[in-house]
Amino acid sequence: TVANTHATSNGPANGSGAQAGSDAGFAERVRDAIDRQELSLVFQPQADVVTNRLTGFEALSRWRLSDGTMLPPDVFVPMAEQGEAIHLLGEWTLRTACVAAAGWLRAGYPDIPVSVNLSARQLDDPALVLKVLGILAETGLPAANLKLELTETSMFSQTVEAREALVQLRGAGIRLVLDDFGTGWSSLATLRRVPVEALKIDKQFVQAMVEDRDAAAIVQAVVALAHALDLGVVAEGVETQEQRLYLQAYRCDVLQGYWLSRPLTTDGVGDFLAERSVI
Ligand code: C2E
Ligand code: CA
Ligand code: CA
Ligand code: CA
Repeated sequence: TVANTHATSNGPANGSGAQAGSDAGFAERVRDAIDRQELSLVFQPQADVVTNRLTGFEALSRWRLSDGTMLPPDVFVPMAEQGEAIHLLGEWTLRTACVAAAGWLRAGYPDIPVSVNLSARQLDDPALVLKVLGILAETGLPAANLKLELTETSMFSQTVEAREALVQLRGAGIRLVLDDFGTGWSSLATLRRVPVEALKIDKQFVQAMVEDRDAAAIVQAVVALAHALDLGVVAEGVETQEQRLYLQAYRCDVLQGYWLSRPLTTDGVGDFLAERSVI
């Protein structure tokens, strides 16, 4: 299965693991995983490239099978996207991330938004906008403290309804970010159609930038494009001080990556916030 070929880091997933099976079967697996608390979120900090001030956290999903094997999101998100499971997973992720961010707010950090990855398939759900607004109301999180990261590929095949949903979410005050910028097909056309507030440069360019002049030119061009359109720009996958200095020279706004921090558990976020004393 897909799970068996990919989940090698902690040993192969065995028969009790999440196997694609039928569509309804995988949705059932996700429901069970939620009930058994096999799913969790980790949060990776983002910071201003120049001042290093914390600007937010991206929520990333984790799935620990009952035998301890970690199933990577690169595996289970595409599996969920094959069917209805993505709606369960997406809603769980949104609610859990909003609960966490509402906690940061109550702990005295008002300006720390959470970014949540939204699958293209979630935009097919006609109830998406109501669900998102319901989760904000339920958790008490202000709309301005939620960002949704959209992939370009998801934008490419966008229907009129999906675009309208994005306009409504933006209208409600939720901020939209175009994820993995530069890896899709439709970047420039998409920018004119979708009300995003920032672009996120994919880590493949960031990581190649120091060695490869073409990658460096692409990073510079994306920063210039974003700023010309009055958009923010975030670099992901920043691992070294050298990469940070390049981004600073290129006037990129925000960075995310192992240089700043690995994704953190809820406890890790608490420690990180306390050390940063951003109050
Ligand atoms: P992404 O949205 O592009 O997220 C960034 C990925 O890069 C994350 O991998 C993160 O852990 C990793 N990363 C962060 N800093 C560094 C670094 O300095 N170096 C390197 N090499 N990697 C870094 P992760 O957590 O395995 O997630 C993989 C992908 O799975 C994400 O890519 C996203 O597309 C998807 N994903 C994760 N969680 C969710 C979710 O809740 N919903 C949806 N729809 N997709 C998710
Ligand atoms: Ca992302
Ligand atoms: Ca990426
Ligand atoms: Ca991605």
